[in-house]
Amino acid sequence: MIISKLNLNKALQILNESAQVFVPAFEVIEDRAAKKSIREKKFLPYREDLEVELEGPNTVKPPKDILFPNVEKLYQYKAAGEDSYIRETLPEETPKILFGIRPCDMRSIKSMDKVFFTKNYVDSYYARRREYVTIVAIGCTETDRTCFCDSMGIDPNTAPGADVMMNRIEGEEAYLLHAQTEKGEALLKNLESLEGPSENVKAIRTDCTLKIRKIPDLDRKLAEMFEHPIWDKVTKGCIGCGTCTFVCPTCYCFDIDNENYGTEGCKYRCWDSCMFSDYTRMAGGANPRPTKKERLRNRYMHKLSYFNERYGETLCVGCGRCIANCPSHLDISEFIEKSSAVDPKAEVYTESIRAAQGKEA
Ligand code: SF4
Ligand code: SF4
Repeated sequence: MIISKLNLNKALQILNESAQVFVPAFEVIEDRAAKKSIREKKFLPYREDLEVELEGPNTVKPPKDILFPNVEKLYQYKAAGEDSYIRETLPEETPKILFGIRPCDMRSIKSMDKVFFTKNYVDSYYARRREYVTIVAIGCTETDRTCFCDSMGIDPNTAPGADVMMNRIEGEEAYLLHAQTEKGEALLKNLESLEGPSENVKAIRTDCTLKIRKIPDLDRKLAEMFEHPIWDKVTKGCIGCGTCTFVCPTCYCFDIDNENYGTEGCKYRCWDSCMFSDYTRMAGGANPRPTKKERLRNRYMHKLSYFNERYGETLCVGCGRCIANCPSHLDISEFIEKSSAVDPKAEVYTESIRAAQGKEA
């Protein structure tokens, strides 16, 4: 199906009649301290007056909070004798459409599906949201300076797993859409009245500007590099702010806590970050990851090695958001290149001999 850019708002209006549609759009945020307005691109519920931008750079934050909110109530309770209760608070059965997500973000949702649906465990909260979401992915037409998804095995022009795939047509102000699932077929049926002519059309193809050299078995190599001195070097500058985890589409760790009001209250979960010192701090005060070195090592190992071991794929999808937003300019793509190139045994050996001789490593 072809839909012209001129009909895009009409298409979103039609879809918004039967579902809540989320689109990449600009929101103006007032920075009162700096006395200026900031325009931030993010996924927002569709409104006619929104400045929607499907192409251009990806959103600053990924759309993961639509499936996995940053704060989510799990159940409510009351402890009051015969009036006591515990009530599960599952998300509402509201159909949603995620319109215009990029191939890297689609791959991240597939990784989240593995975490929340496999290994004999189903997260009922995530499952409810996922069931009611239809995903329309769009192939990238230009990539940001920090995008490296194609070095991580992802094609920025296709999105397996999305219900509908959408690509800009070469030389035309129009998009080519095709259904990849039954949900996608139902969605496109709703838009038939807007269908344009589809002869001799060709979709635009693009690739990433940032290319990195990554060896195919980096996951296994990193497993041997747990004590490698590279970790001391890459950690320099990290201030433990956690920004990298909050903007990452595949970070899914959460904490669980209570909010009590007298005899009533609720149990909720909220995003957590392995970059925070209290993430692994135990009740007695012991902490197996006492410094930022252990914490950053865990984050990178999770993305590039541990997840492969458990689920058979790399967790970093190369979206580049952690690189673009780190206040200290730490760069996971640079780490991938450096660790792909080092000889783990040789460097550990050299450093340990130097240490034994009392010389500076
Ligand atoms: S965003 Fe950068 S400085 Fe902040 S925790 Fe992550 S790596 Fe460290
Ligand atoms: S680790 Fe960085 S580049 Fe990789 S998926 Fe997360 S935010 Fe994107």
